[in-house]
Amino acid sequence: MRLVLVGPPGAGKGTQATLLAASLGVPHISTGVLLRDEARAGTPLGEQVAEVMATGGLVPTPVTLGLVEQRIAEPDAAEGFILDGFPRSTEQAEALDALLAPHGQELTAVVLLDLPDEEVVRRIGGRRVCAADAAHSFHLDTAPPADPGVCDHCGGELFQREDDRPETVLRRQQVYRAETVPLISYYEAAGLLRRVAATGPVAEVAQRIRAVLPTG
Ligand code: ADP
Ligand code: AMP
Repeated sequence: MRLVLVGPPGAGKGTQATLLAASLGVPHISTGVLLRDEARAGTPLGEQVAEVMATGGLVPTPVTLGLVEQRIAEPDAAEGFILDGFPRSTEQAEALDALLAPHGQELTAVVLLDLPDEEVVRRIGGRRVCAADAAHSFHLDTAPPADPGVCDHCGGELFQREDDRPETVLRRQQVYRAETVPLISYYEAAGLLRRVAATGPVAEVAQRIRAVLPTG
């Protein structure tokens, strides 16, 4: 199963991708996580990436595409993957199609997680992530860690992402509307789009996603 999760920042893509990866047995690939790892490594590329991410803009497509190309070539992605945060523009969607086609591969479905703006603000405002593993994510109200400030999974320190501060969130929402929303019609035209309400508890959203995915 080759899935893409699309939705505004904070819609729950990472949360749902983690659950889907476990149930489908394919890797969860988040370009946000890959880029944050690159930034943390402090390479010249990482420094450039960190600057763009801090402003809430989009990192250039050749950079994200290169990371995705490398990751989906790994053996654990041979049978599929869940892409979270990529593609984020029509340009990236076309590039992804062009990457898969020579291998005779195509996407199975694209799930759009729909969430009203005010709920986006609530979800991002409470998000806390683990310094030791960017894939470990919590929410102060809806998914709090057992011990405040400490990751349940690995004991790492929890912090608020710099780009989750209110000024940057506004910019990220604008970028989503300008760059990512046009993707919806791209995938609708391809017959791949499945629209899912991302409101309500995590388990309910997961159930809605399962209901729109092809079986078998
Ligand atoms: P995205 O990957 O789309 O940016 P996340 O999966 O990181 O979003 O979710 C954003 C925040 O909202 C996290 O703190 C997460 O714990 C929380 N969250 C995710 N899904 C739900 C939900 N259905 N209900 C309440 N909180 C949620
Ligand atoms: P996310 O973790 O998905 O919220 O992404 C955090 C930030 O990483 C975004 O605001 C962008 O700056 C950058 N980013 C993640 N994915 C992409 C992508 N596909 N294209 C460009 N920039 C990206």
